[in-house]
Amino acid sequence: MLEVHNLKKYFPVRRGWLRRIKGYVHAVDGVSFQVREGETLGLVGESGCGKSTTGRTILRLIEPTSGTVKFKGEDIFALSHDRLRVLRKEMQIIFQDPFGSLNPRLTVEKIVEEPLLTHKIGTRKERRKKIEEMLEKVGLLPEHMRRFPHEFSGGQRQRIMIARALIMNPSLIIGDEPVSALDVSVQAQILNLLARLQRDFSFSLIIISHDLSVVRYICDKVAVMYLGKVVEIGPADFLYDDPKHPYTKALISAVPVADPGLKRERIILEGDVPSPVNPPSGCRFHPRCPERMDICALEKPLPVEIREDHFVSCHHYGGCSHSARLVQNA
Ligand code: SF4
Repeated sequence: MLEVHNLKKYFPVRRGWLRRIKGYVHAVDGVSFQVREGETLGLVGESGCGKSTTGRTILRLIEPTSGTVKFKGEDIFALSHDRLRVLRKEMQIIFQDPFGSLNPRLTVEKIVEEPLLTHKIGTRKERRKKIEEMLEKVGLLPEHMRRFPHEFSGGQRQRIMIARALIMNPSLIIGDEPVSALDVSVQAQILNLLARLQRDFSFSLIIISHDLSVVRYICDKVAVMYLGKVVEIGPADFLYDDPKHPYTKALISAVPVADPGLKRERIILEGDVPSPVNPPSGCRFHPRCPERMDICALEKPLPVEIREDHFVSCHHYGGCSHSARLVQNA
């Protein structure tokens, strides 16, 4: 369904009167992964690790610096604007702040109808029927069509966003922190709704989140990002039960466990996340890594497949350029 290969996005840093470029923020720096049909991928990491930029660049809401993104075999970055417009029907995004992303002057009907109008789909009567059906599917009522966004709670507004994304029957939905602005109880409802709709409509889903519990709940596969790079990617169960990368281990150790009898040692990382303008040499995680070795500051670790579909970029697993098993298409 989706193949992301060596995706990079650098933002220029301009300074001075002439606004000359003095450097680049390496927001996304060589990210590669695949999403299969009907699969859910979680993209996790601390704020500023590049996960949201990755999601937006995949949809070409931001132009990439380099790399390729293939959606159903078509290279998104090589498409003409007309073709991209057609393909956008199949790729939708749900943003974090449902209030900020809904036009307060439009009724729910107009908001959900907008993509249908843009792509000239159906007559007025057909569109109205489709909107009614979609609102019911996301747990809203047909009479909600005539109301405005401010008349709804946060959870209901996110349901409107989901209805708007789903009305085009997309093959891929990217949820950029779709529940982080909601109360915990409402988060669970929205996640359950997304999981149910995914079963009914069989779309692929990328969930971008800093909350590992959210991602575990819904995702088949998880990619952990640090300073613009994917450091570990694999099936959610492997990654949560037996994380391999020291950064993933630290993140998982901070996730609260529901069982009071279960003790988990918390790994506290030293220092702050380094600047993405001047990322550390070698492994980007080495200034904070509790398991660093001499080679870590010198050489970049490459992804190595340690078991089926589970890749780690760490010298502990032989991920240097001289190691025997380099993975070209990770
Ligand atoms: Fe730590 Fe070295 Fe592995 Fe990087 S490569 S995560 S610094 S052990």
